[in-house]
Amino acid sequence: MDATTPMLRQYKDIKRQYPGMLLFFRLGDFYELFYEDAEVASRELELVLTGRDAGRGERAPMCGIPHHASTQYISRLISKGYRIAVCEQVEDPRTAKGLVNREVVRVITPGTVTDGEMLDERRNNYIASVSLIRGGGRRTVAGVAFADVSTGEFFTTQVEPDAGAAGAAVASAALPELLRVTPSEVLVPMALQNDPAIRTFRQQCPASIVTVYEERAFAPDEAASTMMRQFGVASVSGFGLDGMPAAVSAAGALLRYVRETQKSTVAQLSSVRVYRAGDYVSIDPSTRRNLELVRRDQDGSRRATLLWVLDRTVTAMGARTITAWIERPLRNVAAVEERLNAVGFLVDSPQIRMRLRESLRQVYDMERIAGRVSTGSANARDLVALAQSLETLGEIRSFLLRSLGEAGPPALIRQIVEAIAPLEDVSGLIARAIIEDPPMTLRDGGLIRDGYDATVDSLRSSSRDGKSWISRLEQSEREATGIKSLKVGFNKVFGYYIEVTRPNLHLVPPHYIRRQTLTDAERFVTPELKDRESQVLGAQQNLSELEYGIFCDVRDRVAARCAEIQKRARAVAEADCLASLAEVAAECGYSRPAVLDEAVISIKDGRHPVLEKVLGPERFVPNDIGLDAAGQRVLLITGPNMAGKSTILATTGLIALMAHIGSYVPAAAATIGLLDAVFYRTGSYEDLSGGRSTFMVELSEVAGILNSATARSLVLVDELGRGTSTYDGMALAQAALEYLHDEVGCLTLFTTHYHELAQVERRLAAVRNFHVTAVEKNGELTFLYRLTPGSVDRSYGVNVARMAGLPREVIRRAQVILRSLEEQSPSRPRQISLLETAAAAGGGERSAGGAGGEDPAGPDSAERLTPAEAEVLAAIRGADVNNMTPMESLARLSEMQKTLKESG
Ligand code: ADP
Ligand code: MG
Repeated sequence: MDATTPMLRQYKDIKRQYPGMLLFFRLGDFYELFYEDAEVASRELELVLTGRDAGRGERAPMCGIPHHASTQYISRLISKGYRIAVCEQVEDPRTAKGLVNREVVRVITPGTVTDGEMLDERRNNYIASVSLIRGGGRRTVAGVAFADVSTGEFFTTQVEPDAGAAGAAVASAALPELLRVTPSEVLVPMALQNDPAIRTFRQQCPASIVTVYEERAFAPDEAASTMMRQFGVASVSGFGLDGMPAAVSAAGALLRYVRETQKSTVAQLSSVRVYRAGDYVSIDPSTRRNLELVRRDQDGSRRATLLWVLDRTVTAMGARTITAWIERPLRNVAAVEERLNAVGFLVDSPQIRMRLRESLRQVYDMERIAGRVSTGSANARDLVALAQSLETLGEIRSFLLRSLGEAGPPALIRQIVEAIAPLEDVSGLIARAIIEDPPMTLRDGGLIRDGYDATVDSLRSSSRDGKSWISRLEQSEREATGIKSLKVGFNKVFGYYIEVTRPNLHLVPPHYIRRQTLTDAERFVTPELKDRESQVLGAQQNLSELEYGIFCDVRDRVAARCAEIQKRARAVAEADCLASLAEVAAECGYSRPAVLDEAVISIKDGRHPVLEKVLGPERFVPNDIGLDAAGQRVLLITGPNMAGKSTILATTGLIALMAHIGSYVPAAAATIGLLDAVFYRTGSYEDLSGGRSTFMVELSEVAGILNSATARSLVLVDELGRGTSTYDGMALAQAALEYLHDEVGCLTLFTTHYHELAQVERRLAAVRNFHVTAVEKNGELTFLYRLTPGSVDRSYGVNVARMAGLPREVIRRAQVILRSLEEQSPSRPRQISLLETAAAAGGGERSAGGAGGEDPAGPDSAERLTPAEAEVLAAIRGADVNNMTPMESLARLSEMQKTLKESG
């Protein structure tokens, strides 16, 4: 069974140590994959599957990838979620005795990629880690850490589950963080592998992988000591991690995994930032999806998202950071004001903004370069780009210092100016040592500048001397021998030679030594040529080695300054984001929101930032929104389909979040009170892949809102109850509305297609009815998109049905059924639906349509209620909805559904 060739034995030994990974086994100029790995690679990469003699007449399937093109193949496999162990020859095959020693030098996984070519420069690539810690006597808590190995950003937090939650529910508390971060890889201890929260994560982020990692790494003591070693500190208290064992556990395990895969100290992870859920406005996963903050649900693209509107950054660092800003709006008035001050300053100083953005364009991705410098994978071009960027920062700084003047710039701008202080020893070192336009390769010389190193200089001049002697040789030998066609050439096998064509051979002098015979020429060398040749080649060989050594030394010296470079990179990112927000504000006519610590939202002429941009200028109809804790806290919005109800909700949610991000907002004026959370649920989303019905999704989303919202939350509920029958839906909508009003006391926008709901305004003190309408002119329907006080009692179905092109018979028939339903149940909830629309379309022709007894399936069709249906109707009529908790009403609903299902 065991392969018998020594090489395959070596292969299997190594392979055993890297289970679950594709082993790239270096053989000369190729990486070879064997056995199942070969089959996977040949299938995924469409490469030929070959075989290799495995002894005893067996053949091992094999698939080869050329070393020089490996990046491209590795990146394809990584993006498909594979993990790869790269095994190199660690001794020179020419000098090795017997089998060449091989070792895995790096493990590449989706979450630990650092190669620039494999990454999207405008997006972070996160690896996350989740852990559960059962404290002695204390509650179980979950920890979530995440890091971008390519940039060195590293965060950790601890999530407190709701009181009484245990086991699975605790891990679920971590899920929103995971879904927000959308890491490409998540580390979990074995115990969590099949946890429902992790299963949900897999479903919602199918492109990410889940890696089960050693339990031991998650033990808080072990994790803490990994961190202390990494950061060179004696305790983790300095990071604010006291009393946060789960945060320590997740972070320590992550760090250990990253060090193991990189086989390096990953010095770019030079610190960890601890944050708490309370630092940011909480936005649950479905709200994120519905508001389309940074990606669209359908295709994951950034087009037509808030990010798409706000991102005018000109550096990769800025692009990544503005994404993070949008995903984590601040929950702190002072911090928001600081950003707004800086944005305001840049809005008001277009010259400075323009010049700043112009200069930032010249700055390379210093953050990722710093990461590659730390892991020893940066090349000479990276260093040159880094030095140039540092110099550009110097220019930006002095220009800012000049133009800021006495007025005293906002704090953030001042901090940025301070942070980008020159790092002249680093940029100077690189500028002195590395030539301006170095090659991509590091082993072939041509990296180090003249004058930096005396040995390099002397080897170069010796090589130059030899070369110029050789280049003069052709001319001098032609003259000496009289052979006009004599040539001096070079090839890899024979080195330098003198070539003489056949007719001239009789003129060859005796000291020429014959080396090679061609069909019509002979090649010779002379002892002196050989001397010069070894002078040149020896110098070159020594030079390449020496230059590589010097380069590594320079790189190491730069690596020692990694944290300072990162600090500058982050200041650049921040400057870029602020300038981007200012640019959008100026261009799109946004205004500065007033942000205060009260429960209030007041928007004058608010526009939807994305829709406005899509529709083009002037096409969007602005609206005023007023919500406050003391007065009108809940707006109940009615109106026909397509009237603009959902848009009003999204506009309010986006404007509120933009203010918390520190952005100006698309409104004539806005006052936004600090929010702890924004919830937006809409009926449009169907969790089909999750295997839940729409109604189930609705209920669980509503449950989430009712349980989590507080008086400081903004709750946007769009058309609750669409996923079920009219009665169910209306009961649910009303119960939820009442609960939000009475118990939660949050700022609420609630849209509905049930006219009847409007009557709650009379009973609920803080509810105000609003509607959006359309006008009919010459049979043409025009939507006004204007939010107006009062409820709507008319639908515009005639036109909608006509527009929809419904056959006349269907419209008539629907109208007949509707009428009979109305007779059966006079208090039937009225719905602005297509059905009513269709019925109304037949309006003038009711009698002609033969309603009434003429229609065989007419009035009595409604009397054909099954006993179960009648029972359900009675139950609804009898229900004391005002005295029911939402949970009771949900339970009641599900009973009714069961009754109906069982009977049918
Ligand atoms: P509803 O939720 O009432 O069915 P939507 O909010 O989805 O309506 O709006 C339907 C469409 O109407 C939008 O896609 C948009 O094209 C247009 N629309 C909505 N609000 C406005 C507005 N304020 N100004 C201009 N067009 C709008
Ligand atoms: Mg809608």
